[in-house]
Amino acid sequence: MNTREQYEVIVVGGGPAGLCAAMYAGRGMLRTVLLERGLPGGELLNTEWIEDYPGFMKIKGRELAQLMTDHAREFGAEIRTENVEYIERRPDGIFEVVTSLGNIFEAPAVILTAGGTPTKLEVPGELEYAGQGVSYCAVCDGAFFKGETIAVVGGGDAAVEEAEYLTRYAGKVYVVHRRAAFRASKLLQERLFANPKIEVIWNKRVLELVGNERGLRALELEDTVTGERSVLNATGCFVFIGFRPNTGLVRGHFAHDASGYAITNDRMMTTIPGLFAAGDLRVQLTRQVTTAVGDATTAAIAVEKYLADLRDPTTHAAAVRGVPAVPEARLGV
Ligand code: NAP
Repeated sequence: MNTREQYEVIVVGGGPAGLCAAMYAGRGMLRTVLLERGLPGGELLNTEWIEDYPGFMKIKGRELAQLMTDHAREFGAEIRTENVEYIERRPDGIFEVVTSLGNIFEAPAVILTAGGTPTKLEVPGELEYAGQGVSYCAVCDGAFFKGETIAVVGGGDAAVEEAEYLTRYAGKVYVVHRRAAFRASKLLQERLFANPKIEVIWNKRVLELVGNERGLRALELEDTVTGERSVLNATGCFVFIGFRPNTGLVRGHFAHDASGYAITNDRMMTTIPGLFAAGDLRVQLTRQVTTAVGDATTAAIAVEKYLADLRDPTTHAAAVRGVPAVPEARLGV
C-alpha cells in the first residue's frame, strides 16, 4: 500500500552532500528523511581512495560512505531506499516528493543533493557495448581488464585520476583527449605523465566504438586539428567526460545555468522558496567531497532558519520570497 508521510525536511540523494545535510538536519532536531535509490555514498562508492578529505590522509571511498551514513543515522535522520520520480511544490508551499513505489513524502523544505549522471559520448557503438567494454566507472569495472589494452576518454580530474587507477589492472592505458592540454589538476597530471603504462593521445575525438560478439574491439578516432582518421585497438573504453546534473527531478522552473546546474543564493536556496540544492548539481567552480559537504552544511542550517521564519509571521514573507544573492540577470528570472 502506498504511503503519505510528513517530515520537516526531505533530503533527495544520498551522496556526501545528502548524508551531511541529513546529519546536520537530524542534529538540528528536524524530522528528517533522506531518500536514496541505491546504497548511500554516491560517488564515494565509485572512488577507491579519497586523499583530500581533511582528517583522513587516505581512506577508502566505501569506508567514508559508511561512516557518513552511520553519522547521519546517529543524529536521527531516517535513510530510506526510494527512487524519487519527481518533486513538486504545492500552492500551499508544501513539497511532495513522489517515488516510483508510489509513496509520497511531504515537507515544507527539500534539500536536493541528487548529483549527476555521467555524460555519454553519444557515438555509434556506445550503447551497444555498454557493459561489454564501455564503462563509466573504473572502480566497478577495472578488474575485468587485467593485462588488456584500454582507452580512457576525457581530460578532466576524473579521466586523469581514473586512468592512473586503471593501470593497476590494464597492461596499457591510452588517454584520448580532444584538445592538447588537460584541465585536470597539476598534481594528477604529474602522476599520469610519470606512469609508464599510460600514453596520451592528444587532439582526438571518438567517432565510433567498434566491436564484435566478444565486445568492444576498437575506437575510431578523428584528429580535431587535421581531420585525419585512425583506429585505436582497445577492449575497454572508460568514458569520463563530465556529469549531467539531476535537476530534472523538479517540476516547475528554477534558475539554472546553460548546462542545467542549479543556481542558488548563499544559503543554497534555489529560486523556488524552500527548495535547497547542494553538491554536484549546484553551479560552482569545483565539485569535491569537501565542497559537497560544505554546501550541505549551509543548506541544512539554512533550512532550520527557513522553517523558523515560516513559523514567525513577521519574517514569513521574506522567507517564502527567497533572496537570491546573485544578480537577477545571471539568474535568468
Ligand atoms: P570535467 O572537469 O567537466 O572534465 C570533462 C572533460 O571531458 C574535459 O576534459 C572535456 O574536454 C572532456 N569532454 C567533455 N565533453 C566531451 C566530449 N563530448 N567528447 C570528448 N571529451 C569531452 O569533468 P570531470 O573530470 O568528470 O570532473 C567533474 C568535477 O568533479 C570537476 O569539478 C572535478 O574537479 C571534480 N573531480 C575531482 C576529482 C579530484 O579532485 N580527485 C576527481 C574527479 C572529479 P575539454 O577540456 O576540452 O573541455
